[in-house]
Amino acid sequence: MNFGLTEEQDMIVRTVRDFVERELYPLEAEVERTGSLPREIGRDIQRRVRELGFYAPNIPAEYGGGGLDTVGFALLERELGRTAMALNAYWGRPSNILCACTPEQRERYLLPCVRGEKIDALAMTEPDAGSDVRGMKAVARRDGDDWIVNGTKHFISHADIADFVIVFVATGARHITCFLVDRGTPGFDIRPGYRSVSHRGYHNCILTFDDCRLPAGQILGAEGGGFEVANTWLYATRLTVAAMCVGRARRALDLAVAYAAQRRQFGQQIGKFQGVSFKLADMVTAVDAADLLTLAAAWRLDQNLPANREIAEAKLFASEMLARVTDEAIQVHGGMGLMDDLPLERFWRDARVERIWDGTSEIQRHIISRELLRPHGG
Ligand SMILES: Cc1cc2nc3c(=O)[nH]c(=O)nc-3n(C[C@H](O)[C@H](O)[C@H](O)COP(=O)(O)OP(=O)(O)OC[C@H]3O[C@@H](n4cnc5c(N)ncnc54)[C@H](O)[C@@H]3O)c2cc1C
Repeated sequence: MNFGLTEEQDMIVRTVRDFVERELYPLEAEVERTGSLPREIGRDIQRRVRELGFYAPNIPAEYGGGGLDTVGFALLERELGRTAMALNAYWGRPSNILCACTPEQRERYLLPCVRGEKIDALAMTEPDAGSDVRGMKAVARRDGDDWIVNGTKHFISHADIADFVIVFVATGARHITCFLVDRGTPGFDIRPGYRSVSHRGYHNCILTFDDCRLPAGQILGAEGGGFEVANTWLYATRLTVAAMCVGRARRALDLAVAYAAQRRQFGQQIGKFQGVSFKLADMVTAVDAADLLTLAAAWRLDQNLPANREIAEAKLFASEMLARVTDEAIQVHGGMGLMDDLPLERFWRDARVERIWDGTSEIQRHIISRELLRPHGG
């Protein structure tokens, strides 16, 4: 067992962190203030990440991506998690599910995403089908060689900047099919979603399908095989949530440690009071534990070992840890922690969504306990 980073992994961490700190931190306050990021700035981030050679790091090298393994990718996501989602969204990480494209679809979707010419979004959730995705009501019915789609998706992240959306709809009783839908397809509309307390500038959208006609060639994977293609390729997506939580928590912790060392009350550093120093000890212990859970789950995936439970543990623990650590980092800063002069109140707000998207904490507990009980007939 080796807990050290390889030279390549160390290089990934240093390169991404340096870029994030130097290029993206300075943009955060403006994104937060305005709740948006001008498209030109997004494109500029894409261009510079491509120059860095780090665009599409998760996509296999045979398609022009970085070909990182899961541990390498988790390390990269951990560093990206230090900064705002609105900014790191432009660090192209096309959905892995696009690796299921046919050769023709690859030319139209995967390869342009790898080159930074197109951006994808992914839509499962509906107003009446969240955790219970199998209960989705959006449907596609066959019409000759085409499919006609009707229904609504909501909470779809960054669909406002997407050129196409990977959409899951019902195509029969217990049959879900995945379609690739281009922006501008007649009958398909992308509308602004809700204002969220977390991740300002990173927008969610409502998608409507009104007799939207799609040729059969827009199906990704097999007809009726939507969950198979999702389970094969989206399996590890929630691990990226865990990794990002670790990165953001580490940044909040660093701020809390620096403040505890510098701030003086009652004639001494506040870090000398046990009430503060024990908080720091608990925070770093929780961050390290989440980091190890995340990397261990990533390692299992790279070894082709079952990792369903371990990914759920990492997502559950890291997202709940982030909520506690950002809250305590504010406590260490006293009143200043609540002011938007510092990024802490933002981290605290941003942390809230991590326990909800990509499967709520309750759903992660279901996955973990189901795996525990299965050998006992559970
Ligand atoms: C900002 C944001 C961005 C998002 N981006 C995307 C996206 O890009 N694409 C996409 O498809 N989705 C996206 N989502 C949707 C997200 O994955 C869902 O919000 C999440 O799966 C929960 O669904 P829900 O909100 O409908 O809550 P519900 O499923 O209605 O859950 C409500 C509550 O009931 C609990 N609950 C539900 N079922 C059970 C159960 N069986 N046992 C115990 N408790 C249960 C939940 O844990 C939760 O506490 C996004 C959500 C948000 C908030």
